[in-house]
Amino acid sequence: MAAQGNGLICPICGHTSNSPGNASDHLRYIHVGLRCFFPGCNVRRTSEADLRQHIADQHGSVAAGANGYFRCPWPACAGDFAHRNSVKRCLFFHTHDQANNQPQAPQAVTVLNNQVAQQIIAQLTQVTAQLTQNSTQLNAIAARLDVLETNVASMREEVRDVAANNAAVNASKREREDEGDEEEAEEGGRASKRSRN
Ligand SMILES: [Zn+2]
Ligand SMILES: [Zn+2]
Ligand SMILES: [Zn+2]
Repeated sequence: MAAQGNGLICPICGHTSNSPGNASDHLRYIHVGLRCFFPGCNVRRTSEADLRQHIADQHGSVAAGANGYFRCPWPACAGDFAHRNSVKRCLFFHTHDQANNQPQAPQAVTVLNNQVAQQIIAQLTQVTAQLTQNSTQLNAIAARLDVLETNVASMREEVRDVAANNAAVNASKREREDEGDEEEAEEGGRASKRSRN
């Protein structure tokens, strides 16, 4: 717990308590961890709220004793309470204390594995979304290519038509030129005849 102003800040959730006692109660009540340490249980939950619910339902529903008090069922506790809710709080405290007396490594590794798995899932989701987008873009590109191919084919046809037209124009031009040459030759012949006369 870090001191800040008049309060104490929970290092796990940022909750502010106004005294060290309340800060400790907050930690032990709320931050019970994800594993039930009630002897013989060993249930795991994915949130502390779920684990508190499990503890309250499965281990905290005790009947009142002959003295009218509710006894905490945690082994070697023997706490007697006027209200059943106080038994649940006692069980939360035990669970928190037990969790924090356990070697942390296996739990930390589990949490880390979950985080890594979640990161991988998030990345896979991103990659899948990207692939879907890519495939949409590829389909759009393929559709544009189809259009371009059609255009290119009709351009080729036009080019062939123009080439055929040019060939025809050239042929008729050559014909006219040939005729012109013949005429010139004839005229030249007449001219030379005239000069000889
Ligand atoms: Zn907290
Ligand atoms: Zn349990
Ligand atoms: Zn107890």
